[in-house]
Amino acid sequence: MSRSQDRWRILFENGLPSERPPDACWDWRARCSRLPGDLPVHHASWQLDHGEPVPRGKVIIQTCGNSRCVNPAHLVLRSPDAKASPRQPKGPAKLTPAQVQVIRELDATGRKTKAEMARQFRVAFSTIASICNGEHWQDI
Ligand SMILES: [Zn+2]
Repeated sequence: MSRSQDRWRILFENGLPSERPPDACWDWRARCSRLPGDLPVHHASWQLDHGEPVPRGKVIIQTCGNSRCVNPAHLVLRSPDAKASPRQPKGPAKLTPAQVQVIRELDATGRKTKAEMARQFRVAFSTIASICNGEHWQDI
């Protein structure tokens, strides 16, 4: 273990909240959210928990949505493209809201059958059916 690693470990422990219930968020207390070597604190937390650095090209997201949280139980390794939407809306995530509108329109006008739409949008027949009967995406 190198000395710089010792240093960030001490800094990291100093920034942790004194009470750390296993299921609750651990709000990072220190003002600076990066450790020496430009290491984000939630990466440091993940690294200490897993015993290895965050793989190159990957990101750590907080499943709780709390950007100050460093509880390793709330941290997951993801590819960068997954970072934008840690909270997916309920429903078929493969379709965009615009596609859902088109599906509803096609269904209402009867221009395509649900089976045809399922093929066109490459989703399951049940997904199309649930959109058309309003089970999913009710707010669109
Ligand atoms: Zn949390």
